[in-house]
Amino acid sequence: MFILSNYIGGRLQPSLSNQFLDNYNPATGSVYSKIPDSDEQDVEAAVQAAQAAFPSWSTTTAATRSRILLKIAALINQNFDKLAEAESTDSGKPLSLAKRMDIPRAHDNFEFFGTAVQQFASESHHSKSSFINYTLRNPIGVVGCISPWNLPLYLFTWKIAPAIAAGNCVVAKPSEITPYTAHLLSEICIEAGLPEGVLNIVHGTGPKAGAAIVKHPGVKAVSFTGSTRAGKEIASVAAPMFKKLSLELGGKNPVVIFSDCDYEQMLATTIRSSFTNQGQICLCGSRIYVERSLYEKFKTDFVAKTKQLKVGDPKHADTNIGAVVSEPHFNKIMSYIKLAQEEGGTILCGGKAVKLDGELSGGWYIEPTVIEGLSPECRTNQEEIFGPVVSIQPFDTETEAVSLANNNEYGLASVIWTQHLSRAHRVAEQIESGIVWINCWLERDLRTPFGGVKSSGVGREGVFEALRFFKEPKNICIQL
Ligand code: NAD
Repeated sequence: MFILSNYIGGRLQPSLSNQFLDNYNPATGSVYSKIPDSDEQDVEAAVQAAQAAFPSWSTTTAATRSRILLKIAALINQNFDKLAEAESTDSGKPLSLAKRMDIPRAHDNFEFFGTAVQQFASESHHSKSSFINYTLRNPIGVVGCISPWNLPLYLFTWKIAPAIAAGNCVVAKPSEITPYTAHLLSEICIEAGLPEGVLNIVHGTGPKAGAAIVKHPGVKAVSFTGSTRAGKEIASVAAPMFKKLSLELGGKNPVVIFSDCDYEQMLATTIRSSFTNQGQICLCGSRIYVERSLYEKFKTDFVAKTKQLKVGDPKHADTNIGAVVSEPHFNKIMSYIKLAQEEGGTILCGGKAVKLDGELSGGWYIEPTVIEGLSPECRTNQEEIFGPVVSIQPFDTETEAVSLANNNEYGLASVIWTQHLSRAHRVAEQIESGIVWINCWLERDLRTPFGGVKSSGVGREGVFEALRFFKEPKNICIQL
């Protein structure tokens, strides 16, 4: 059993109250480490450390900040295996996925913003012949970054890297369910020579440590990724304090498959978009709409391929589906599978918990599950399940497909499969989501705007979107 630490003012330390939370390994269901159960006092110490660091950090050159970010990126690569092991142990995700996706992306986040900050420029406007306006974009001050458990280091660094690249000092909180790689990042930042207080990591629960960050008057902006429920709570506290807010929230993403698609590519990618990371990616497609003429063939092939996915030990190279992240989340997913049947759905495959042997017998595993026969309005089709569960349904016309896709409170991402060029553009324009993939899924260019509409959030991340979020613009007008 080992104990993780907060990282405040450049030092690793326990919570001031010396209270701890249990941290579970989802693959075994057992506690394997303890994390600080931080509260307002720890957040106060972190904000003070960040405020003390701000005057110096905000006035360092972009080149200096860039060098430190690139050093952190290099150290993430040097610690690649250790970080991937930690991410898999903490979250239950296959180790192969952590190596393919999570840790490379954490590295890329630091490298990308370390480079981008050197390219960042501001505007000037020649209004009339005798006036020039120019826009200063200065760092905001102390900012809060709060992230979820599904892509722990990937999303934590997606916020921290632009925040510190832009010259801010940060008080950050990773999910209490997957804190391990954030702890390892603290050690990396110390080794990289990040000045003390520039990044402060406070571990603990949302209602205690997270809420203390959001309501602290010294925290001028909050970048949050997580559930729509928590996003609402955060907005209700931060908005009346006029804090800058970026909210990346839940999703219930549609996949629209037309009969003229490239079938084999669509089938293989739809398996990935449904079940990668046990379906626990905010961008996974969970409502699959298929043109009627293709429906029966798709159903047969999709179910057959889903049955081939191996649920197993996250550490084994041939495992496709690892453990879901926690016992409460396991219970939530299983309750939705039960609800789907009560709502008239038919389970075409999966639907059951999986019991593995030996030390994995206490782990939280669920078969990948495909359901048909649900109405578009039922809760299973409307609410975010965030597990290895998808529903399939036929449609007859393009208009119906768009209307089914938009029949949901969320609007994060969507996927369209068709070879018909005009239809692809037409449907993409009509679908209410912040991101549309046509004939692909999860292809990410970090320069693009990332975020959702409707209940999926407010604001965008991505290169200049994030750098602008973490700066305050000031217009200056000069008479010549
Ligand atoms: P969550 O909202 O329960 O927790 C997210 C983070 O917020 C955690 O660190 C938590 O401790 C903290 N938190 C919770 N309540 C808080 C409060 N009142 N004040 C301050 N902090 C608080 O979400 P989760 O279960 O960790 O993550 C899953 C959710 O995240 C899903 O809804 C998923 O769709 C969403 N998500 C969205 C994106 C995106 O980019 N839009 C990406 C990944 C995950």
